[in-house]
Amino acid sequence: MKKGVLFVISAPSGAGKSSLIEKIRPRFPDMLYSVSCTTRPPRPHEIEGVHYYFLTRDRFQEMIDRGQFLEWKEVHGNRYGTPAPPVMEAIRRGHRMILDIDVQGAAEVFKAFPQAVGIFITAPDLKILEQRLRNRGTDSEASILTRMKNARRELEQAELFAYGIVNDDLNRAAKELSAIIIKESEGSFDRPIQEISR
Ligand code: ADP
Ligand code: 5GP
Repeated sequence: MKKGVLFVISAPSGAGKSSLIEKIRPRFPDMLYSVSCTTRPPRPHEIEGVHYYFLTRDRFQEMIDRGQFLEWKEVHGNRYGTPAPPVMEAIRRGHRMILDIDVQGAAEVFKAFPQAVGIFITAPDLKILEQRLRNRGTDSEASILTRMKNARRELEQAELFAYGIVNDDLNRAAKELSAIIIKESEGSFDRPIQEISR
């Protein structure tokens, strides 16, 4: 039986997590990506059902009430949640899946699935992080300040993750991320993930 692996990737906003994941995607054609729900408005390039499911707060609350999230959190003033069924299905079928979620959500996933592989991505320093958020040009000044304040708290929780990657040069960091995925895909679990996660 194939072994499913959950990769949980977190980073302070602007560290380059999305850029890194985009970069490695072609290398792992069989990799699944959890698509989160959010109450945040879409950025110009974002596509419904690809980057996120963009929901009203009422619809998001309905999903919470129905227990449809594996985890959900309030992040930078908006709600974000991981729909449970695709993750459970990926595990059941022995697929590899990436969850791109915040640190608090990651902590919850590690409790439910202790053998999930945590990868924490940082920018070389906070100044560079702020610069990247500004250069991205997608967030308001207020949102940038919230994200910088939260970054300090998130960095304190880096030890929850098995791996840390400093995203200094995108190509170098992408190689490091690929190497971790390859290493962890090669029989790092003795038993199929679902036997241990119950
Ligand atoms: P996140 O998904 O972690 O919020 P993004 O992938 O959106 O971050 O990256 C934030 C900004 O930084 C983007 O404008 C992106 O192009 C840029 N960026 C990402 N990685 C690097 C890097 N290694 N060097 C310079 N700029 C980067
Ligand atoms: P952004 O608004 O920049 O797309 O994402 C903000 C933060 O929310 C990022 O740290 C991202 O990883 C996180 N996030 C995205 N989806 C989820 C989710 O389903 N659950 C949690 N807990 N965080 C999420």
